[in-house]
Amino acid sequence: MIDSARVLDTFLTILRIDSYHPNEDPVSDALRPKLERAGVRLRADRSRNVLGFWPGCGARAGEEPILLCAHTDTVRPTPGMEPVIRDGAVHTDGSSVLGADDKAAVAAIVEAVEAIAADGTPHPPVEVLFTVGEDVGHIGSKAFDVAGVRSRMAFVPDVDGPVGGIIMAGPWAETLRVTFRGRAAHAGTEPEEGRSALRMAARAIDRMQLGRIDAETTANAGVLTGGEAANIVPPQAALTVQVRSLDRSRFRAHRAALLDCCRQGAEAFGGAIDVESLGSTAGYRFGEDDAPVRRAEAAIRSAGLTPRRATTCGGSDANEFNAKGLPTVVISVGYRDIHTNQESMPIDELDRLAEVCRALMLGS
Ligand SMILES: [Zn+2]
Repeated sequence: MIDSARVLDTFLTILRIDSYHPNEDPVSDALRPKLERAGVRLRADRSRNVLGFWPGCGARAGEEPILLCAHTDTVRPTPGMEPVIRDGAVHTDGSSVLGADDKAAVAAIVEAVEAIAADGTPHPPVEVLFTVGEDVGHIGSKAFDVAGVRSRMAFVPDVDGPVGGIIMAGPWAETLRVTFRGRAAHAGTEPEEGRSALRMAARAIDRMQLGRIDAETTANAGVLTGGEAANIVPPQAALTVQVRSLDRSRFRAHRAALLDCCRQGAEAFGGAIDVESLGSTAGYRFGEDDAPVRRAEAAIRSAGLTPRRATTCGGSDANEFNAKGLPTVVISVGYRDIHTNQESMPIDELDRLAEVCRALMLGS
């Protein structure tokens, strides 16, 4: 049985830890006694991801293991943040984000283990994984070696929406920094000698298709920097663009189109561009009958909820694990307004998520 008071206590305990990357270790340290008491054997990898193996128990000890994963970092630091319970939900004190993303999932996974252990329920082997640096670019999951994983499927509770959601597809995404190279000149005495990198960037942005491109593709020109002084023709400008799509070929096509705009913008004013990738993510797409989707649906039903299929344009650790060949499905956590100081986590959703995690572990 899920213990509502215990999971809430676990959640509040880790919320009070400021675990912005790279300071995640105190979270796993706080959870270690609970997990080890249940019989989970924990070890950290070189990137400080913490992987735990919980041997199966009873008649089910020989069954296939499954892995549940959540990240222990938060999107921004939370120094001194004291969670507040109001209207049946855990809120921040307003000084920072709450960190329910993804500590609600961390607490739910730990609760599922504690509940199964306390009840003595026979269970298949289970792996738990707490990753670092997810919100600053999937640092832990990118570095994680899936060869050390025994499970053939994994679940990552890390998306908003009421508990019961199953993410069928995640995006291909890349952030690019395009540097426009022009030529400096005195803007008053010899402007003819200058080649304005800012004009190149402006022309490029003006020609770009940005925002929502189609139902599955988005693009953004997010940062533009450049120029030195009012009396100098700007010799250099840097533009950061991002493209995401649930469809690999549309992702590639739009990425190419954005870079064409940059090249043409530079050529229009006699300049050139350099392109640097600031990070990319491989997307994924599951079929309705794929085993991890069916397992998630069964677990959600067994927790008394109705499964909902959805897609997301947000990335997560699941992108990295799927790219490494470990089929990984994202499920919804129930957290709200994440990445803002209004972030909250309904307490009944925390219980439901723990119930779903328990059902995933039990495979029923
Ligand atoms: Zn997250």
